[in-house]
Amino acid sequence: MQYHVDGELVDRERATVSVEDRGWRYGDAAFETCRAYGGEVFAWDAHAERLERTCETLGMPEAVPADLAVRVAETLDANDLDDAYVRVSVSRGVQPGKLTPREEVDPTVVVVVTDLPRGGRPAAGGERVWDGHAVVQSVKTRKPDASALPPDAKTHNYLNSILARLELRRASSDAYRPDEALLRDAEGYVAEGSSSNLFFVDDGTLKTPAEGSLLPGITRRTVLDLAEGESFPVETGQYTPDDVREADEAFLTNTTWEVRPIATVDGIEMGAGPVTRLLQRLYDDLVERRCYGG
Ligand code: PMP
Repeated sequence: MQYHVDGELVDRERATVSVEDRGWRYGDAAFETCRAYGGEVFAWDAHAERLERTCETLGMPEAVPADLAVRVAETLDANDLDDAYVRVSVSRGVQPGKLTPREEVDPTVVVVVTDLPRGGRPAAGGERVWDGHAVVQSVKTRKPDASALPPDAKTHNYLNSILARLELRRASSDAYRPDEALLRDAEGYVAEGSSSNLFFVDDGTLKTPAEGSLLPGITRRTVLDLAEGESFPVETGQYTPDDVREADEAFLTNTTWEVRPIATVDGIEMGAGPVTRLLQRLYDDLVERRCYGG
């Protein structure tokens, strides 16, 4: 396996970053997780835009290299991968010294890929990449207030989500194994999963928490557009955990999971209903059209 580090393809074993890199020292880095289908990165422009925005938030607007898409393509080619998970990181780079970032930035840019088979669409009757429907558990860990950490910046600081996942582990037993945490915002309204956005269907309306305390996912945006394209009633707002638990259907979205039905929330059965299945199909069709030219 070869990764792209600072403009060069290197063997995985030699793909290393300095201990003085600020991405390592402080989480001072932006990143994106993307997915390639048939050698094409799905929604690359949206990922590149969010990466740019995160770098702007971090005060390093020039950090993303102009040839980033080429580096991603080279990494996929070098590993002979068509269907893959692609992770792109841009850190503020090596800066020995103290907390205050220097003005001049020499970013560290890393592209990592792993094989991620498409896993079969429902039409093909195949299994998807994730392990079945999500078992979701509310956790005590809250999303930080937007004034503390801008939620729309996708930085290497993932400790909030990691703390939520650790709570899941503590709540696990042989009989109950939650695999996604549901986090509330500072006011107690449902925000998002630790690595995903949340949707639910209530009385024929597709609902999802409004932006403010969540990462506006690219899959979330895609699903909202698909639903609106079908003239399906859509609403964003402030919702309580009870609203989710009482919903007719619920699902999670992220780049890797795509549209992933929720089996249970806090032990309460949800299951994939017709709206979830319709959106899965529309998402699959979009991947087909955009990446396979189908
Ligand atoms: N929220 C969080 C906290 C995430 O880590 C992710 C995954 N990047 C998402 C939402 C979903 O984002 P996307 O659809 O862009 O993958």
